[in-house]
Amino acid sequence: MLGDHTDAPPYPVGLRLAGRRVVVVGGGHVAQRRVPALIGAGADVLLVSPEVTPALEGLAGEVTWLQRRFEVADLEDAWYVVAATDDPVTNALVSEECERRRIFCVRADDAAGGTAWTPAVGRHGGLTVAVLANREPRKSAGVRDEIMTALRDGTLTARTTLDTTPGVVLVGGGPGDPELATVAARHALASADVVVADRLAPRELLDELPAHVELVDVAKLPRGRSATQEAINDVIVARAREGKRVVRFKGGDGFVFGRGYEEVLACQAAGVPVSVVPGLTSSIAVPASVGIPVTHRGVAHEFTVISGHLPPGHPDSLVAWDAVARMRGTVVLLMAVENAPAIAEALLAGGRGPTTPVAVVQEGTMPGERTVLSTLATLADDLAEHGVRPPAIIVVGDVVAVARPGHYGRG
Ligand code: SAH
Repeated sequence: MLGDHTDAPPYPVGLRLAGRRVVVVGGGHVAQRRVPALIGAGADVLLVSPEVTPALEGLAGEVTWLQRRFEVADLEDAWYVVAATDDPVTNALVSEECERRRIFCVRADDAAGGTAWTPAVGRHGGLTVAVLANREPRKSAGVRDEIMTALRDGTLTARTTLDTTPGVVLVGGGPGDPELATVAARHALASADVVVADRLAPRELLDELPAHVELVDVAKLPRGRSATQEAINDVIVARAREGKRVVRFKGGDGFVFGRGYEEVLACQAAGVPVSVVPGLTSSIAVPASVGIPVTHRGVAHEFTVISGHLPPGHPDSLVAWDAVARMRGTVVLLMAVENAPAIAEALLAGGRGPTTPVAVVQEGTMPGERTVLSTLATLADDLAEHGVRPPAIIVVGDVVAVARPGHYGRG
């Protein structure tokens, strides 16, 4: 058997299991963790167990499930075996039979009794990280987690595994807290030669950029909305044409009041390749981060996200405020601090009740975050009294009271 060498370190390999028979004996939580990865590796999985967890049952179409106890003949044609029943006698039988047939076998209940160990695994781009910590699964998982975190946040650069082809990547950075930027957003930043960043994009992530990366701060471009947008379009197109990989880094999601699609069109018009990484939009994430759901069963069956940068009645406005007032669901207002009094008035005039609860979240998910609770009737006064400044999200509707029950408004 294992003889005198039980203390020798394992020899790591990457098994190429595509199309190869792998037998998993047992249908509990260990099998539930192993089977999806085996399916992912393309293995021809034979699952042997009288009972399996609901999650494994859900995978029944992707594996062959023998709904009975293990029989030695099940090992026929197997390249690799996982013995993961809750019965040590069965596991021992499986592992002994594998030893005899020279099939590598992992034994879930007794690592020393098997001929192979399952490493803690993580994947990043095209890279597979596998950690074996001498039969200490917590330790191996911990080291794996640290490596994965470092790869994701760029502390450990795996630039060679990233897509670095020239062009423009439009990246939504989430509402502000760097923890709420996606893994894809971090990868994109790590791959960039040039980053063109908005004021509302999570700034802390920019500190992590390597020194060679050119940072263009849009907040410092010449003023005036359309002039700025043209300057942005020009800079992203120009840098991409120089053969650089340009990340256009925005707050929230680039297509939610972010003028992102104008930049896509500019790239397309210039023949520059452009791709999109969606972001967590502040319109949903900021309310959620202070515990306010935009929908709730029996309370709101719709939510409407509206830009408040133009007041109701403005000739350029595309919003039917009377229709919004007649709807019963949640209204989420962005860029609306300045026009909030006029908007509240329009909603009241259209039929929303004066006591409709309102939450205003300024600088959501960021260090300066604060929430002001109000009502439609008192919103204008409350905003003024608390000196609320942009960026702020205004949530109107009964979902606010569901999350923050109590008395709204003044008096
Ligand atoms: N594309 C962004 C929105 C851009 S419009 C997104 O999907 O989130 C800018 C407006 O978004 C701000 O005026 C404010 O209303 C809102 N906003 C963005 N981030 C915010 C934050 N962290 N806290 C509060 N409001 C925010």
